[in-house]
Amino acid sequence: MSSPERERPASERREALKEILKQARACTRCAELAATRKTVVFGAGNADADLMFIGEAPGASEDEQGVPFVGRAGKLLETLLGEIGIARSEVFIANTLMCRPPGNRDPQPIELDNCHEYLLDKVELIEPTVICTLGNFSTKLLRGDPTGITRLHGQPEVLVLGRRAVRLYPIYHPAAALYTPRMLETLREDFTRLPQLLALGAPEQPALEETPEPVAADPPAAGVAGAEPRAPEHDPSVDQLGLF
Ligand code: URA
Repeated sequence: MSSPERERPASERREALKEILKQARACTRCAELAATRKTVVFGAGNADADLMFIGEAPGASEDEQGVPFVGRAGKLLETLLGEIGIARSEVFIANTLMCRPPGNRDPQPIELDNCHEYLLDKVELIEPTVICTLGNFSTKLLRGDPTGITRLHGQPEVLVLGRRAVRLYPIYHPAAALYTPRMLETLREDFTRLPQLLALGAPEQPALEETPEPVAADPPAAGVAGAEPRAPEHDPSVDQLGLF
């Protein structure tokens, strides 16, 4: 599941994503989270996905395994995806925070802020057409507005994130739906509208001059004017974990 009309080849964007992963694994922007985490849960799935999910933050199992949504909520997400004919491996799953908040407390505003740049980098490199925010945290964060998920779920809107326009589709968090049958019913209904939304393709992208300059790539090799950019080093741990 990936659109043919991407701006940069998938292999190039995947390599760039691995570079961001390397930086994220060494991140200490949130001192408490960096000191208490076991792993940095960067996100996982298809690095060229049309559909991306953004949850809240890793829990204990995710922190252990370094992979998002590995518990019961993840199983439910996989089931709901399967019901609309999409495999988990076709989508990319990330969170607003990459590190587990101790005791599963709520993410703090400064932590969300610290992690936001990484999230925008993922969106920019994966180039999804649809982003499903799961629950209140990611919905409020990405919309920059306090309106809650109960009012917004199931209503797509076009949103510019960083330099990318995407179709934002807020839905209930599967962890909440596990315990509330009515919510599960609504979540399932909202899922059934996803294929139509994906079929619309990417929304019109912002004109380049309206967007900030891209982040500078690696500089050319010293002293060689116009040298080819270096190929990123291969990081086998990405492939071993099967992250993307
Ligand atoms: N809930 C989330 O929001 N993210 C996870 O990765 C797991 C549970």
